[in-house]
Amino acid sequence: MYLVTIGLEVHAQVKTNTKMFCACRTSFGDEPNTHTCPVCLGLPGALPVLNRHAIEKTLLTGLMLNCGSPELSKWDRKNYFYPDMPKNYQTTQMEFPLCIGGGVPLYDHCYPTDHRKNIVTPNKIVRLNRIHLEEDVAKSTHLGNSSLIDFNRAGTPLMEIVTEPDIESAEEAFAYVRSLQMILQQGEVADADMEKGQLRCDVNISLRKNASDPLGQKVELKNLNSISAIRRAIHFEIQRQTEELNAGIPQIQSTRRWDDDRGETQMMRTKEDAHDYRYFPCPDLLPVRTAPLLEKVRPLVPELPHQLANRFEKDLGVTAYDAAVLSSDKQLAIYFEAVTDAAIPGKKVANFIINNLLGTLNERSLSIADCPVAPEKLRSLLSLVENGTLAANQAKEVFTILFDSPEKDPAAIADELGFKPAEAGALDSLVDQVIANNPSEVEAIRAGNEKLLNFLTGQVMKTASPKPNPKQVTDLLRARLL
Ligand code: ZN
Ligand code: MN
Repeated sequence: MYLVTIGLEVHAQVKTNTKMFCACRTSFGDEPNTHTCPVCLGLPGALPVLNRHAIEKTLLTGLMLNCGSPELSKWDRKNYFYPDMPKNYQTTQMEFPLCIGGGVPLYDHCYPTDHRKNIVTPNKIVRLNRIHLEEDVAKSTHLGNSSLIDFNRAGTPLMEIVTEPDIESAEEAFAYVRSLQMILQQGEVADADMEKGQLRCDVNISLRKNASDPLGQKVELKNLNSISAIRRAIHFEIQRQTEELNAGIPQIQSTRRWDDDRGETQMMRTKEDAHDYRYFPCPDLLPVRTAPLLEKVRPLVPELPHQLANRFEKDLGVTAYDAAVLSSDKQLAIYFEAVTDAAIPGKKVANFIINNLLGTLNERSLSIADCPVAPEKLRSLLSLVENGTLAANQAKEVFTILFDSPEKDPAAIADELGFKPAEAGALDSLVDQVIANNPSEVEAIRAGNEKLLNFLTGQVMKTASPKPNPKQVTDLLRARLL
């Protein structure tokens, strides 16, 4: 058995309209090489201009994650052979990144579902080393013996979020990336969609025998483009290194690629150290004074998902589980709050959203942002349940129709379906008839078997028109028989 030490470097595309050092639009899925200029093509003599929004969003991220910032943040060139960056250096930050320190809280519900009962360190905070800002390279596509290159992505601002080696398992790495994604989305600093390549992750992993030993040689895993791949790749790598160490094969610092189809990592190269990149200060860009920008973005710091969850639990009376679900998506949290109303308990809104709305969205492969039912419509539907007009299962029927005809009024749909509370006396003869027709059930109910009230209620409901709230019928029967 070995102790596992993992550090993560996450590259997240900062949500900006334009690129890091030029005014070209950031875009995804446009015709290749349509958003380019001399700066992002790396032509000689072109001069970069800083994107203020990218800097502000990075500083905002730092505030959300309790980072500090140096007074002056500076820019450096990282030299390398970059086949997808013609100037052969990346403009990045080495010595004075925008953000230093801080940490990312791991949310319980961000662990893999099959692992939530085995969380080793609940409420763990993974410490951050730094967050710096840099530029993305172009996107290359390899076709047999030729390669195509698209510069639309070149120069897109990337935040590189680097942890301390605090992560101890594949499941913690999984929870880290999911929690970080939620926080970035909450702050609207990044969309962080891994499928679109907006969030990319490198994993550094090393094994050692005892906690008192120095860290083992680290292996860096590249090309991880889904959270489940991160988990599988780490499991594979722990197993591989364990077997080699057991066989007396020492590990060397190296970079490996994850092959998702084969489910294994493959050696790419032995790893260079920082000094191999010959970092040097960028002569084209002035340092950034962080204090005024920090003051500007401080008011934009949002409630983080766990703060939102606490508030939902405390002020709106939902369970911890519901609060975790509702705060897991910014749009969902906004929707929930928009439906909630003093007249309807938060718990009932939460139940309906989690049990019905999310299920229906899921069936139709829609996200909450695409939900056709406006929060006000759901609120008026739920108030019909609250005032006794509709029973819970009737409300579900109304909701199904509302989902496909969201312009309709829930009360009108209930009318169309014939769901209407009975007027005083309207049910009397029906109730009398059912009582007369079911003498043995009536006897059993009087003897204490109240469950049979549901049976008699069902009998009344069968013939009642319009359909009252079944609770109304049960109450009438109860009053008559007990
Ligand atoms: Zn450009
Ligand atoms: Mn980087």
